[in-house]
This record gives sequence, structure tokens and C-alpha cells, in this order.
Amino acid sequence: MDLAAPLRSYDPQDPLAPLAIRSRAATQTTDPLALGALAKVYLIWLGGGSCEGCSVAATGATHPRLEQLLAGAIPGLPRVELVHCLLSTESGSEWTANLLMAERGELDAPYILTWEGSVLDESTAGDGSWSGLGQDPLTGRQIPTSEWLDRLAPGAAAVIAVGTCAAWGGIPAAAGNPTGSCGITDHLGEGYRSAVGVPVVKIPGCAPLGDNYTETVAALLLHLNGLAPLPELDDLGRPAWLFSETVHSSCARLSYYERGVFAAELDGNACLVELGCWGPIVQCNITERGVINGAGGCMSMGGICIGCTMPGFPDRFSPLFERPEFPASAGSQKASGGFLRRLRSARRHRTPPPAGLAAARPPSTRFYRSERVSSGVR
Ligand code: SF4
Repeated sequence: MDLAAPLRSYDPQDPLAPLAIRSRAATQTTDPLALGALAKVYLIWLGGGSCEGCSVAATGATHPRLEQLLAGAIPGLPRVELVHCLLSTESGSEWTANLLMAERGELDAPYILTWEGSVLDESTAGDGSWSGLGQDPLTGRQIPTSEWLDRLAPGAAAVIAVGTCAAWGGIPAAAGNPTGSCGITDHLGEGYRSAVGVPVVKIPGCAPLGDNYTETVAALLLHLNGLAPLPELDDLGRPAWLFSETVHSSCARLSYYERGVFAAELDGNACLVELGCWGPIVQCNITERGVINGAGGCMSMGGICIGCTMPGFPDRFSPLFERPEFPASAGSQKASGGFLRRLRSARRHRTPPPAGLAAARPPSTRFYRSERVSSGVR
């Protein structure tokens, strides 16, 4: 579309007008909590191949709550204006206008782009589209979600891949998928940097912990506001402080593992490793943080760790409910620690390779990625 073409005019008092119009016209008050340079930041949340579970997880966050971010209730953090593909009040062309204004640089504040779900390869969609979102206001053409990613990522202050599908491809990229699904970095390229130099920030999990998302957003907002350094990311682009430990290290069943008490069925008080728990090598803080307000979590609710935060999930952790390939029943965590560290390291290095910009690669590279993953070829 012609990016110079003016958008239709909206009444900024209309509650269904684009948020970017309403926000700009809102009365500005002196915020006693404002400490940095930014009064607000737009948070644009888009989805590709997703189940929307990451959206549900984010709305359940408690530390901090999404509502606290939206209200600007945390000292030092700019207020968040949320443009969400499910939660926004406006819809249709009024909602799409927010994205067009962001692309044109017409927002009155920076924007962070959050992407939920895999990125679908529209070159394999034939005459249709795997996933569309909104229409071009001039031509009526449905715009593929992956095109929005291409159009908005360059101008974003940061891009957050929320959930395993956005981070690594996840279930939509499992063996046999026909959509060419992949993670954001596969699509944008390892060399992607935001408008202020931030690489893609990945918060994996299926679904991720809502607190992991809102806490990372808060850390990025502090950075954008000039009050903190860029949050430390590990070599996979994850917030380092959230994914440095294994599920196993804080599991409520760890004492059973160390005493060699292993469950044969999914009930009772015992370690679940013989039933397929990947906790000893999976980096995830669910056993430390819980799911909502410190409560819940796979092992504490009687389930196994299926590796949902990790690159290669689900293919590399399938079939589920079969004993993983490490010497868990040796009984001593200390004795097996070195082996597990090497296995974890090997798994981390079997992440998607540097790929360059997607546009420079033949479509088949992404289309057959899942088959290569399942066969161990990278
Ligand atoms: Fe918990 Fe799984 Fe480790 Fe057993 S193997 S202690 S169930 S994380």
C-alpha cells in the first residue's frame, strides 16, 4: 500500500477509534511516578500460528500484573498502551490503523512488538493464506500476519517472542506440518536488531509463565526509559535470570529423585523421571515461580516436564511419557550432574542455526525445517 496515503480521520473521543488516536488526544497529567524520559510506550501484540495461550498466560500474570503496566502504576515504568489482536476494544480498520500508524512512524511514543505463535510461510499457502490479520485500507487485500512482522519489526524498540512457537516454532513447526512454520529468529534472521539495537527477546514456554513475560516487559521498559541497562539475555536470546536453572533444581520431588524413589504411575509421592520427565535438563523456572501468583506448575500438579520451553520441542522430546535418555535412576544428582550438563549444553547448541534474512533464503529451507529437526539434521 501507499504509506503516504492519509488514514481516514477519527473522532478521538470515540471509544472505538484507534487507540493511537485516542491516546494522543488524552489529557496529559503530571504523573508522580514518572521517573524517566518516556511517559508511555505502545505494546503491539500480534499472533501468527498460535492457540492464544500466551495471551491467556500474560493476562494471568501477577508479578507484575498486566493491569499495573497498563495503568502506569509502577515507578520508573512508562504507561503501556496495549494494541492487542484479541483484547483491544476497537476492531477492523480502526484496529489496523494502529499498526499502520506504527509503521509510518506516526505514533507519539515508541512501540514494543510482541509476537505470539509461529511465523507461517505464506509462500506455501497457494491461493489462500495461512494466517491473515486486517486488510489494506486501499485495496482490501488481506495482510498475512508474517507481513505485519516484516513491516513492524524494523521500527520496533524491541521485539519479544512470547511462547515456544514464537521462539523456536513450537508445535506448529513439528514434523509433518504443512505451513512452513518457524520461530521469529528463523524468519527475521539472527542478525535482526530493533530500532535501538535490541535482539529478539525470547520468552519460551507452552504456555510461558505470565510473570516471565510481564517481568521482561518491565525490564525492557526500564531500559527504554533510561533507568537500567539492557536486560541480560543468554545465548539463546532468553532473559538470562529466568532460564539459567533447570526445572529439576527447584522441583518439589527432587528429594525423591536423590533417594531413588521413582514413580511407576502418575500418582503418589515419587520422582516422575521414569515416566518421561525431562526436568533434569530443561531450563525453566516453573518449579521456582509457579504458574499464577506463585502457585501451580507441572510437577507440583502431578505432571512430568515435557520440555516445552526448549528448542526442538515437541519433536526432540517425543514420544512423551517415555523415559528420557539420561542416567536419572543412578540416584545421585551429583554423580550424573556432569553428564546432564553436557547433554544440556549439546541440546542448547542444537538450536536453529544462523539463517540470514528469510527473504534471501529459498522457501524450501523453512518448509522442510521440521523434517530436518526430527532427523537430527541442522
Ligand atoms: Fe522433579 Fe522431574 Fe527432577 Fe523428578 S526428574 S525431581 S519429577 S524435575
